[in-house]
Amino acid sequence: MGPKKYVFTFEEGDVKDKKLLGGKGANLCGMTQIGLPVPPGFIISTEACLTYLGQKKRGLPPGLMDQIRAAMADLENRTGKGFGAPDNPLLVSVRSGAAISMPGMMDTILNLGLNDETVKGLIKMTQNERFAYDAYRRLIQLFGSVALGIDDEYFDNIFDDIKEKYKVKNDVELDTKALMEACQGFSDLVKQKTKQPFPQDPLAQLEIAVEAVFKSWMGRRAVDYRREFNITQDMANGTAVNVMTMVFGNMGNDSGTGVAFTRNPGTGENRLYGEYMINAQGEDVVAGIRTPKTVTKLRREMPGLYKELEELRHTLENHYREVQDFEFTIEKGKLYCLQTRNGKMNAAAFIKTSIDMVNEGLISEKEAILRIQPDMLAQLLHPRLDPKAKTAVLAQGLPASPGAASGKIVFEADRAESKAKLGEKVILVREETKPDDIHGFFASQGILTSRGGKTSHAAVVARSMGRPCVSGCEAIHINQQAKEAIISGLTLREGDVITIDGSTGNVYKGTVPTVEPEFVEDLLVLLEWADDISELKVMANADTPEGAEKAKKYGAMGIGLCRTERMFNQPERLPIVQDMILAETTEERQKYLDQLLPFQREDFKEIFRVMDGLPVTVRLLDPPIHEFLPREEELSREITHLRDLRITVDGMANLPDTLKLLDPELHNKYAANLETITHGLEELKGKHLAEALITNKEAILQKVRALSETNPMLGHRGVRLGITYPEIYTMQIRAILEAAAEYINEGGRLAPEIMVPQVCTLQELVFVHNHVVQMHKDVEKKFGIKVPYKFGTMVEVVRACMRAGRIAELAEFISFGTNDLTQATFSFSREDAENKFLPLYNERGILQHNPFEILDIKGVGRLMAITVEWARKTRPEVKVGICGEHGGHPDAIRFCHHIEMSYVSCSPPRVPIARLAAAQAKLKEGEYEFV
Ligand code: ADP
Ligand code: MG
Ligand code: MG
Repeated sequence: MGPKKYVFTFEEGDVKDKKLLGGKGANLCGMTQIGLPVPPGFIISTEACLTYLGQKKRGLPPGLMDQIRAAMADLENRTGKGFGAPDNPLLVSVRSGAAISMPGMMDTILNLGLNDETVKGLIKMTQNERFAYDAYRRLIQLFGSVALGIDDEYFDNIFDDIKEKYKVKNDVELDTKALMEACQGFSDLVKQKTKQPFPQDPLAQLEIAVEAVFKSWMGRRAVDYRREFNITQDMANGTAVNVMTMVFGNMGNDSGTGVAFTRNPGTGENRLYGEYMINAQGEDVVAGIRTPKTVTKLRREMPGLYKELEELRHTLENHYREVQDFEFTIEKGKLYCLQTRNGKMNAAAFIKTSIDMVNEGLISEKEAILRIQPDMLAQLLHPRLDPKAKTAVLAQGLPASPGAASGKIVFEADRAESKAKLGEKVILVREETKPDDIHGFFASQGILTSRGGKTSHAAVVARSMGRPCVSGCEAIHINQQAKEAIISGLTLREGDVITIDGSTGNVYKGTVPTVEPEFVEDLLVLLEWADDISELKVMANADTPEGAEKAKKYGAMGIGLCRTERMFNQPERLPIVQDMILAETTEERQKYLDQLLPFQREDFKEIFRVMDGLPVTVRLLDPPIHEFLPREEELSREITHLRDLRITVDGMANLPDTLKLLDPELHNKYAANLETITHGLEELKGKHLAEALITNKEAILQKVRALSETNPMLGHRGVRLGITYPEIYTMQIRAILEAAAEYINEGGRLAPEIMVPQVCTLQELVFVHNHVVQMHKDVEKKFGIKVPYKFGTMVEVVRACMRAGRIAELAEFISFGTNDLTQATFSFSREDAENKFLPLYNERGILQHNPFEILDIKGVGRLMAITVEWARKTRPEVKVGICGEHGGHPDAIRFCHHIEMSYVSCSPPRVPIARLAAAQAKLKEGEYEFV
């Protein structure tokens, strides 16, 4: 058997195999195969990359270079040019491209194949000396920086010196002589830095370039990006290398290059959107070297080509049925398409284009739902600038990525990262950004650049992350070295606060207040489609009437978790709660509970009213009760202060005599005043106020000590409290049922659900259930009406999972509390784990994720699956939900759907995300694998 096939032409590559060919490669094949004008080329597969990275030997994998040579020979045949031919040279670009699009992650080398000889051939071929040297200097710089690792700064310095020498501002103004000087300067630089001349053999250039692309896969930028976006080894799968015949946008004023979206990626508007530059090549548009023109200008400048671009836009959309982000180049009036990929858009644009495409008949409702990453919706739920805030605009740039952000200015990505680690909010301010700045994007609230257009690196990356960005804000003059920015006469330094609004391009000094976002109409439409599809219901966790309002606003189908203790913490109630806890006898405790009852009843009634008949699940008291009392150290400190007061008063009484002894004059001067103070203090002492307070505080301290536990989270909490202090649970049960009765009396309809926390055995449930039954009888009698209700339990203790069959005899519903259940399954205490060892576990790959953030499906999930199965055996109609933090995460939701749970419950702002995820879970149920 010969060596593996690593090389595929654009004609033969399988367009569906992005994993093998990378996204860029697969799409180049796709465009070629539907007849779009793509310059000929071939792809070196990701498999070659993985083999290269996995082998111990140096150099490319065996056989690969032979295949590359053959493919180049084929290209020579097809283009009629020769690779390295002095009179008729073939030039290519070498581009990376992984299965998952990672914009700006790995650099492309253009004009490969040029050397001191072929550059002359290029001149002969094109009759354009200036163009040839321009291409050559680009190659030496790109090759030098990307493949040989020489810092761009060195090249830029040489180039700036030349521009200065010839007194020009823009590279297009440099003449042939200046560009030849650049080539010479760059070549010398390469020799100086690498101790080797710039490689003259085109095949050697190609070999080094391919190897550099492979290596860049493990470079910092790529690794950072994959970590930030949770791209696992398996999804990532190495990068392919695309080798493509060069076409030239820099051959004069009938040439140019550009980047466009088939629709506006900021607003979703159905119009060609993009930027171009005349007489420019490749990176020029993206790098923000000159500010490009918007593509609509091309309509006047090159009307024929504009029409072709419009056609291209429609062909691409009809074929891919997604908004496309494509690159084009015009060489002497001929249009080429060099790349296409699905457009990264902000959530608002994503939703608008999806709905429009459904209405245009391009995609189905299901496809629209499947297109959108649920987590993206979080962007829409971000705050925006308060329109009522009348802050003066400091400067205006381009609205490159919507959303508002405030933070302290930093001028470097590294600074952004280190400041963010200290918990500071920062805005990254730069002339332009480069792929090396990617870690700074992650760390910043927003990005502001003084140069570059709406398709500049900063804009594209910020949009893909949903970070606000203002680009091309030319009024700002940045002095990187001095860490200063000057805007309309005002000097801003690192640490000064600014606000940027990526929706308008405005920049403000200081913090501008923000307001809650409005729901956009399009999102409502999409979520309605989603609700029609999903089987899981989406509830919200809400503890107060205000919380319930919010839940309703986000479209919750009920309240899956109402935590009653949150109601205890309000200032006018807490003292009563404390007295109730301190009570020595049951009668005394009952007295305080009677005071709490009306508060709870009112809250419940209000929540029922807001939810208007939707299910509301109320959890009985859960936390250990010492949480409602002051902390031990605090009490001790107060008591010490009070004791000190007594000593101070005694000392003060003696002070006049002491003073008389020491300094009679001073005594004469102050004796009268001192007397007054001492009398006052004596009076205070006489009242024994401090003593009374000390006694009271000491009593509390004693109680706090008595209640203190080594492991409160595993201690006296949940149903265990309900069993030791049944009067507390009874009060709560009564409040729930009476509130329901009153609400029903007013014409409402509802069956409240009473949920018991921390249950591990059926007997606990039986105990509480007896109280519920008794109370229910009383309430129905008192009100003379039927009050329906449901009784159920949390499942957050491993034993409850194992005894689900028995527990379901009484529980009409169960709800997984996955926070506690995760702690119990791992035997990790969350705080200790997250502070001490979990980060290391993640780093070392011992655990892929933090299980408190991402549901551990293999372990905790397995327990849940068993629980559902056993509970259903006893009670087939048992309602099953999840109300831990995980309930709002798409992966957990997919799993919950898979084990046929009834609902998920999450915080109100995550409800829209969960609704979309629930529909996707249904649509993708066939592909689900639970191992
Ligand atoms: P990125 O992923 O950063 O966009 P690309 O591989 O797309 O990198 O290339 C960078 C720039 O070079 C793009 O503007 C692209 O259009 C241009 N380019 C790549 N290959 C060619 C080619 N064969 N001819 C002309 N321009 C090219
Ligand atoms: Mg690039
Ligand atoms: Mg590109």
